[in-house]
Amino acid sequence: MLDYEVIVIGGGSAGLMAAAAAGERGAKVLLLDKGDKLGRKLGISGGGRCNVTNNKEFDELIKWIPGNGRFLYSALSQFGSRDIIAFFEGLGIQLKEEDNGRMFPVSDKAKTVVDALVGRVRSLGVEVRINTPVERILYHDGQAAGVRLKDGKEISASCVIAAVGGKSVPKTGSTGDGYPWAEEAGHTITKLFPTEVPLTSGAAFIQSKELQGLSLRDIELTVWNAKGKKLVTHVGDMLFTHFGLSGPAALRCSQYVVKELDKQAGGTVRVTVDLMPDRSADDVYRETLNLTAAEPKKAIKNVLKNAVPEKLIPLLLIRAELDDMLTHDNIPKAKWTELAKLIKAFPIPVNGTLSIEDAFVTGGGVHLKEVDPSTLESKLTEGLYFCGELLDIHGYTGGYNITAAFSTGHAAGTSAAERAIALRG
Ligand SMILES: Cc1cc2nc3c(=O)[nH]c(=O)nc-3n(C[C@H](O)[C@H](O)[C@H](O)COP(=O)(O)OP(=O)(O)OC[C@H]3O[C@@H](n4cnc5c(N)ncnc54)[C@H](O)[C@@H]3O)c2cc1C
Repeated sequence: MLDYEVIVIGGGSAGLMAAAAAGERGAKVLLLDKGDKLGRKLGISGGGRCNVTNNKEFDELIKWIPGNGRFLYSALSQFGSRDIIAFFEGLGIQLKEEDNGRMFPVSDKAKTVVDALVGRVRSLGVEVRINTPVERILYHDGQAAGVRLKDGKEISASCVIAAVGGKSVPKTGSTGDGYPWAEEAGHTITKLFPTEVPLTSGAAFIQSKELQGLSLRDIELTVWNAKGKKLVTHVGDMLFTHFGLSGPAALRCSQYVVKELDKQAGGTVRVTVDLMPDRSADDVYRETLNLTAAEPKKAIKNVLKNAVPEKLIPLLLIRAELDDMLTHDNIPKAKWTELAKLIKAFPIPVNGTLSIEDAFVTGGGVHLKEVDPSTLESKLTEGLYFCGELLDIHGYTGGYNITAAFSTGHAAGTSAAERAIALRG
């Protein structure tokens, strides 16, 4: 006689949804988490307001999950963002849509969402144990058979769902415990890397901290490879920090920086900022020159304040080799052309990122070729399921990772329960 039918390890976004789905199917479910609270990472997502999902059709949504988003077609078609919205609204949580499809609770409090999800899990009769770290998954005859806890106790079940997350922000409980478990079952773990993470730079103007705190709105950030080919461009806000670049545009570019640095085996990656993305270099040249013509007696360093952030002006002028005290009549046109080019593509050499622990999301994980995309069951070990950030899937922040976690969690919970019930005989 088995202790449970389905054991879910990890009570984050994926595990909670898996437990709810398995409970809804009528399976006898145990949810284990090593922390003293469930849904800790979900609770700090979206700036503590919980970015529940993103209200896009799933074809569109997948484009925002550059790390293997296509694997999600099947899971999203079973339980996509519209189902997630209906699920939470069904629990009495009112949601609102913000920019770019991001969905938040009307309360603006992540706790509302976490409490509703945990409440749903409990109401379905799922047994929940917190402060219960799992040491390993047990196998018998090539099938999942249960778990062994850190305290040595063993609990049996016909299906085990690993939903222990990645390695980012370990204080939320995600400390990479699932990777060795998956390897023990014969799975490949693709290279882990930080993504949605701030960028670091050794440039003198970063190290001097002269730009620290400067926030740029709606700029375009581009990452270039060693051959000068554009790898990616992201539009958004960006922030200069004491170590480099942060803010949405920098976070979105980070995975491309990581991969390019890997390819080059170190060194620096060229990143450029377009301060006026809606203007051509010719427009920038003409419009900024017109500004100086309108105030012909004023030094260019003062006139330029009307066009670009003041903190950047000394750097731009030094790089364009323009004397900051020049006035309109003395401007060398070739150097002004150079200035316009710098405004369109201000170069920043980037030499790395913060660590995987400091990243919002872990890239890499359980190899997707070894996992069934519609059931999330291991193709190598029957009764073993993976979901959430533990898988080799990563999206941009904006509700995409949470959607991937809810969607894969739901598919894993549903199929594990169906398998367990079929085994009742
Ligand atoms: C600050 C921050 C903001 C974010 N904002 C967004 C956002 O706006 N949009 C977005 O899409 N994504 C965002 N993310 C990412 C998103 O929150 C995660 O991708 C998602 O929540 C991962 O869910 P998960 O269930 O796979 O893992 P987790 O939420 O990490 O859950 C894993 C759970 O497993 C438990 N566990 C681990 N090991 C064991 C063990 N041995 N035994 C028992 N339990 C164990 C942990 O305690 C934890 O509760 C953000 C992440 C961070 C850190």
